[in-house]
Amino acid sequence: MAKKYGKKKNDIVKEAKNHIASLFEKAKFEAGTRHWLANRYVTLARKVAMKFKIHMTREQKRLFCPHCYRFLLPGKNLRVRVHEHRLIYYCLDCKKFWRKPLDKKKKKIN
Ligand SMILES: [Zn+2]
Repeated sequence: MAKKYGKKKNDIVKEAKNHIASLFEKAKFEAGTRHWLANRYVTLARKVAMKFKIHMTREQKRLFCPHCYRFLLPGKNLRVRVHEHRLIYYCLDCKKFWRKPLDKKKKKIN
């Protein structure tokens, strides 16, 4: 692949990462008004990540549903509840839920 584009692999990966970041920025921007477009941006970002075998950041991963890959917007298609020191995320599109531990020592909540 490096030969084909005349670039080093690191540069291609860097470009792909930037591309993913910009796609998520666009998705965030569109989520309130054109949710279907935000979903499309998530699909594209996932495709880019899979093609170049890039791991998405923690912040990027929490923006979409791990089951149906739709962009999550609290109050629109995401419900968040606290239960037994855990956060329960419930996707209103695919009706599936997942949990995240609520660590009291770390104040950063994902
Ligand atoms: Zn879902």
